[in-house]
Formats: sequence, structure tokens, C-alpha cells
Amino acid sequence: MTYPRPSLSIAGAARQGTGSTITVLDPSTGGALAEFTGASAEDIGRAEAAAAHGYRIWRATPAIERERVLRLTAQAMRADRSRMATLIVQENGKPMREALAEIDAAADTFDFYAAEARRSYGRTIPARSPGARMATSREPVGVVAAFSPWNFPAINLVRKLAPALAAGCAVIAKPAEETPATAFAIADHLGQAGLPPGALNLLFGDPAEISSALIASPVVRKVSFTGSTAVGRQLAQQAGAALKRCTMELGGHAAAIICADADPEAAADLIAAAKFRNAGQSCNVASRFYVHRSRYDRFVARLAERARAIIVGPGSDEASGMGPLSNARRVDAMSLLVSDAVQANARIVTGGARLERPGFYFPPTVLAEVPASAAIMRTEPFGPIAPVAAFDDIDEALALANDSAFALAGYVVTDHAPTARRLAQGLNAGAIGVNTFTVALPEVPFGGSSASGWGHEGGPEGLEPYLLTRFVHEA
Ligand code: NAD
Repeated sequence: MTYPRPSLSIAGAARQGTGSTITVLDPSTGGALAEFTGASAEDIGRAEAAAAHGYRIWRATPAIERERVLRLTAQAMRADRSRMATLIVQENGKPMREALAEIDAAADTFDFYAAEARRSYGRTIPARSPGARMATSREPVGVVAAFSPWNFPAINLVRKLAPALAAGCAVIAKPAEETPATAFAIADHLGQAGLPPGALNLLFGDPAEISSALIASPVVRKVSFTGSTAVGRQLAQQAGAALKRCTMELGGHAAAIICADADPEAAADLIAAAKFRNAGQSCNVASRFYVHRSRYDRFVARLAERARAIIVGPGSDEASGMGPLSNARRVDAMSLLVSDAVQANARIVTGGARLERPGFYFPPTVLAEVPASAAIMRTEPFGPIAPVAAFDDIDEALALANDSAFALAGYVVTDHAPTARRLAQGLNAGAIGVNTFTVALPEVPFGGSSASGWGHEGGPEGLEPYLLTRFVHEA
């Protein structure tokens, strides 16, 4: 399938920007897929005006009609899943079956929030005098500036769009410049399903220029960002200065604790399937492994065996178990993390060096005996490296796991219920998986604290950031 020339979307119409040229790369070859022009200051202004207009129409649209538009979008995405997944494979690099699963999850998210659109209930409060009425209603917060990254080009965007649109907000989104076509396809389906022009606008360009302009704009009332802690910190400062609400879904560095009672081979099988999905480029993935010393050698051997068995190749090739990383920055980051760990006396069990071929390839890598001082135990790797260390008792494991600036996800593998409960209570994380590595689904809240940001996406909690509460007292 030929990759389409990406474009901005303003007031429901595709248009080239009048700013700088953006080149989209194919991660499986490193070559150019397409060029297009990003947004200039004038384009950003046009998107703001379109969103202000779209918001007036969309907020006045009954919730049941908003539900209908979101459901039709979900249906259309499912019908179009193979084309949309191909776009993800082309611009992000992941294997086709993962891209298909991502489209399905995005469609499920539209369905979940379609139903939630009808559930933004207010309440009646007993009044203080006869005949009086005291009631609250939930109102959309206004126009939302939404910034989504390249690792899950569909789901990360839809986890913002679906609740914002369900609430009656209009959105100006700036998805990652690396993955514009998936975002455009989603916007296109929303438009075809009946979303009024201007209720969603897409901008691409210079991220800092666009975010600064949108956060300062009087049109925008809410900021939602998914990405790195460093950028989140900047945007939160700007949003704070402008007194705008914000949701910050930032990085994670989830610990997985493999306990003495766990079957080390079964644990390694479960972890190999989760860890190398999306080439490890996921904020909730387990990225530090603490294994009870009695299980350590068997766990490391099996994880390395599983890692070696993964065929690394283009996402379009059915045999590929793992695709390339999404950009060259990640490959460089992996090389630096490995050399730092080796200097700190870690052992490379498998992988460890970029694959010498065109494209952004780094193999599934297992590092053993990684000391807590190594950079990979402190920095979010966001790639296919599994650093492993041994522990002797549960308190030590908890202390190691919680010795992190991040607090997003945490995992436990154990067959012992009291140990599971103790660790689930003791881990400093917003989402915890016990004998599972699935913690982000449309119907569940997901969000972190500390360097992982604040606020939730998913579940009924994911609608809240897009709603204001209004109180009316009728005497
Ligand atoms: P980055 O920090 O420059 O960018 C992260 C994301 O933020 C990208 O999508 C980018 O387009 C966007 N961005 C950057 N500057 C921005 C700005 N001023 N305003 C608005 N958006 C802006 O780096 P990167 O190389 O793309 O990613 C590096 C790190 O980011 C990763 O190692 C990982 O820690 C983190 N990350 C996290 C997630 C997540 O799901 N939480 C997703 C992607 C990247």
C-alpha cells in the first residue's frame, strides 16, 4: 500500500501547512516515506478559530448524538482495520498483528466513551427552603490541546479524543510528526461519522512552537500530554502560568518482582511476550526485573532463550516477532544504556548491539547482574532491553522497586496470595499487575504520580478531566 502524503486537518478539511517541511521516515529502512508541510503561526491561528467554532456546535449536540458519532467511528475503524494497521506499520514499524490489535483497542476505546457520553450525570442536592432546587450539571471544559506520541499512534491519540469528544469538548491535536497518517485516518473517520467541522483539528510542525501557542491561546482551556517527563514538565509549567487544567501521562519505569514461589520459566515466558511487544516502547511496560536469588539463574536463562528466538524484521513481514525501533534516537539511547551498564559490571546475556542493517534495529537484549547504580535502572529505557537483578527477601525487592522517580506501573509474579497482596499494597505505582502484564484497557483508569505525571486516562476517570461541574440554585 502506498503511504499517503500527510496533511494538517483544519475545520474538517485536509490542507498542507504553510510552515516548514516535515519528512516522515520508514523505521524499517530509515528511508523517507513522505514529505509534507507543517503548521505556521497562521495555521495554528486558523485551527484555534476552527476549534472555537466547532466547540459551539459540538457542545450543543445532545449526548446521545455524540454517542452515535463515536460508535460509528468505532465501526468504521474496525471495517478499515487492515488499511489503518498498515499505516501504523509503515510509519511506526511495529509488526502487523500488533498494529491490528492497536486499531481494535482504539475502536473499543471509542465505544467505551460513546457510552460514557450519556453518563456525565449531575445530581440534585436537598434544598434548604421549600420549593427551591439545588442541582449540579457536568459541562464540557472547552477546547482541548492534545499532544500524543509516536509509540502507539492510534491508541495514545484516541485515549484523549474519545473522552474529550464524549464530554462535548472540541480538540486541537498535535500527534507526533513521526506518525501523522494514522492520526489523519482517525480524524477522517470521525468526520465521516458526523463530527462537525472544527470539533477536531490536527496540527503537525514544530512541537514547541505549536504547544506554546496553543497553551497560551485564550481559546484553549485544557491541555493533555503523553510523552516524556522532560517535555511534560515544560508544558505543565506553561499550563500553570496560564491557569489551564492539564493531564500529564509521562514516562514510567515499571519494576517486575519475580518471587521465590514463582515458576521461573513460566514467568520468563510471560515477560518475554510483554517486554518486547512494540520493541519495548511503551510507558507501562515492565522495564526492571528483580528476581528471587533462588530463581534467578533459571529465569535469566529462559528469558534470554525467548529473546534470542524473536525474529527481528520489518513489521510488514509476517515472520517478524519484533520490528525496528520507531526512530534513530531510540537506537542511540539503547547503545548508550548498554555500554553504561557494562561499565557498571552488568553482563550482556543476549543482544546488546544495534543490528548492522538499514533501519532502526536493536535486538531483544537481556542484561544480568545489573547494579542499582546503572543508568538503565534509573532512566526509562523505552526500548527492548530487559535489565535483571537478584534479591534475597521481599523487603529488599520492594525497596529496589520503589527506588525510582517514576510511579506509573508495577508488576508481581507469585503464586502466593499474601505475598501478592503485600506487594500490590507496597509498590509505588498507579497500576499494578499480579501475574499479568496488562494494566491499560479502555474501561480501567490508568495514570501515575511523581515523574510519571498526573491524571488518568481510561475508565470513567478518563472522562473527568474534560468536564466542569456547574451548580445551579433556584430559589
Ligand atoms: P521527546 O521528549 O522530544 O518527545 C516525546 C513526545 O513529546 C513526542 O511525541 C514529541 O512529538 C512530543 N514533544 C516534544 N517536544 C514537545 C513540545 N515542546 N510540545 C509538545 N509536544 C512535544 O523525545 P522522544 O525522543 O520522542 O521520546 C523520548 C522519550 O519520551 C522516551 O524515552 C520516553 O521516555 C518518552 N515517551 C513516552 C511516551 C509515553 O507513552 N508516555 C511516548 C513517547 C515517548
